[in-house]
Amino acid sequence: MINKLLILHTGGTISMNEGDNGHVVLSQENPLLASIKTLHSPAKIDQEAIFNVPSPHINLTHWIYLKTRIEKAIFQEHYTGIIITHGTDTLEETAYFLELSIDTDIPIVLTGAMRSNNELGSDGLINLQSAILVALTPESRDRGVLVVMNDEIHHAKFVTKTHTTNVATFQTPTFGPCGLIAKHNVLYFQRLTCYEHFPFEHLEKTNVPLIKTYAGMDSELLKYLANSECDGVVIEALGAGNLPPTCLAGVSALLNAQIPVVLVSRAFNGVTQDVYDYVGGGRRLKQEGVIFSTGLNGQKARIKLLVLLNQQLNQPLSNYF
Ligand code: ASP
Repeated sequence: MINKLLILHTGGTISMNEGDNGHVVLSQENPLLASIKTLHSPAKIDQEAIFNVPSPHINLTHWIYLKTRIEKAIFQEHYTGIIITHGTDTLEETAYFLELSIDTDIPIVLTGAMRSNNELGSDGLINLQSAILVALTPESRDRGVLVVMNDEIHHAKFVTKTHTTNVATFQTPTFGPCGLIAKHNVLYFQRLTCYEHFPFEHLEKTNVPLIKTYAGMDSELLKYLANSECDGVVIEALGAGNLPPTCLAGVSALLNAQIPVVLVSRAFNGVTQDVYDYVGGGRRLKQEGVIFSTGLNGQKARIKLLVLLNQQLNQPLSNYF
């Protein structure tokens, strides 16, 4: 098979420059388009600057466009690897959306940078070089969507941005990266037990807010959502999956309105479990019909719920979390 890579540039710090005043700004012309010739690749590389936006501007419309472009690249144009350059703020969400929605064993690799193109110690080109290496490695096939940053490879499903500025920002808190880039070698150490895909044509139910809980939180926000047009709610609960008792009326209002409620933990590491049997404790929440997610963070659980709400499911929604 002849290797043929497609790089889709979407914007973010990796495509930005620092101005004289120290502020980082969007570049008119993506600097990566010209830099690519300085990188090493035995494969043919095509590139397209499909957007040029900071990643806080990325939304569902961008995701659908990206998904459609990637599917065309894989299934009609026969690219053997896809690389996406992206701002780091929402990179993990784009990565997981693509994993859930595209059924392929072709490597799809996202990368970005914490320091812009002209900053001292800029990490953009080395991350892009690593992403190319990963996309060209046969062992990268059938591993879901991968995130490559700072010499590490992470699964889209569990990776998260953990630091505002440090180049070592991307981590998989519960079990670490799945692989490393050591000099010019790609080394894998683990793989997920399953990769889930839920292909779809259209998304109709897209109103899925994410709510973070806190000590003493009341039910007002949740009751508001129960009376709104929302399709599902993800709650970042406390610890192993518990809520303040003052939230429970809000949770009941959501469930009575047939709005699915998925619980994740606001804790950085670990999974939610129905351990505690007290008012607001996980055991009672689960009995009420709240769905517990195993290990997804809030922003990923939100994407999964959104995608699942638009599927014909043959099992109860809770079985998919
Ligand atoms: N704020 C930037 C963005 O997400 C940060 C980055 O690219 O790393 O676009």
